[in-house]
Amino acid sequence: MAHAKIEQVAFIGTGIMGAPIAGHILDAGYSLTVYNRTKDKAQELIDRGATWASSPAEAASKADVVFTMLGYPTDVEDVYLASDGLLKAAKKGAWLVDLTTSAPSLARDIHDAAEVLGMHAFDCPVTGGQAGAKAGTLTAIAGISEADAVAVAPVLATFTSKIFYFGSSGKGQTAKLCNQVSLASCMVGMADALALAQQSGLDVQQMLHMVGSGMGSSRALTELGPKAVEGDYRPGFLNEHMRKDISLALAEGQDMDLALPGAQTAYTLYDLLCQIKGARLGTQALALLYAEEADAVAAGLDWSVLDIEEEDEPEADHECSCDHKHTHEHCHNHTHGTHCHHHQH
Ligand code: NAP
Repeated sequence: MAHAKIEQVAFIGTGIMGAPIAGHILDAGYSLTVYNRTKDKAQELIDRGATWASSPAEAASKADVVFTMLGYPTDVEDVYLASDGLLKAAKKGAWLVDLTTSAPSLARDIHDAAEVLGMHAFDCPVTGGQAGAKAGTLTAIAGISEADAVAVAPVLATFTSKIFYFGSSGKGQTAKLCNQVSLASCMVGMADALALAQQSGLDVQQMLHMVGSGMGSSRALTELGPKAVEGDYRPGFLNEHMRKDISLALAEGQDMDLALPGAQTAYTLYDLLCQIKGARLGTQALALLYAEEADAVAAGLDWSVLDIEEEDEPEADHECSCDHKHTHEHCHNHTHGTHCHHHQH
């Protein structure tokens, strides 16, 4: 297949991940047009030479490749499929590459709709975090074959150090959800280990160093454990996005009658963290669920939100299948989407 050379790139969604990724594309010499819901977050790119567009459609109208790095599947749906969305506005032959962690079925729908219109769309979520985005060393997880992606590979190379091609649309998202399921349990392991060490009076740094050098290690533990110990809960990866990713993975599992108990446990904890005003903190804030209430409050959490809900809620609404009614820290039987409001603190 002959492809026109890619010169014009549009980037939509310049948040924590999108801004540094777009910066690498700009640095590589592509002509870049940007759009973000909140313009401020694109200002640095504009100052460095990117052109501002006032809508996704305007950003896409002249682009050879359009990247999107949005928050939720609903954002992806809006930006691609709305009556003034990318599928209406992009050029015939354009590439539409969604970097958002989103739903596999939505990726397939967008791919199929784009194909009918003579465009090429594929899912390409990434892993490597904010640090990887800044360094330009992300791993891309592509829902396309390597042969079919040849035309866009040079642009992907500006912000990645590895690309895994999973062959067809939706599979990049499914593979990314495997990563998130593994990460979610690593995060719970990190937070459990920290709590056990702290409450037993161990030297926590020594424990992190020891666990980090053996089979119990994970990058969650070695990179985010120290941040939790220092009380640095600024987001590299938002709790609300972790909750979204686990929820997407649980939904995939449910579709095939597959239980994911590790992910279910992590969902319960991340959902709780989001409910008590931790949605916009980084995922290492999971450790705060085990902390003294004063430390949690100092970091911005508010356990009293649950007390207010509890007062409003008759006991009969309690949907958890466990038989103990008031202290639930070990109960992981909550069904997806239901919330247990009984906790110890
Ligand atoms: P983020 O900072 O919230 O960035 C998302 C950006 O998309 C925001 O700037 C948001 O605008 C913009 N946006 C959302 N809907 C929009 C719309 N309809 N039109 C235009 N702009 C829109 O989140 P992030 O950390 O960069 O994560 C982005 C995605 O990557 C998420 O799906 C996340 O799960 C995934 N991810 C994150 C990481 C990480 O470590 N952070 C790693 C891998 C994957 P506003 O500025 O107005 O909110």
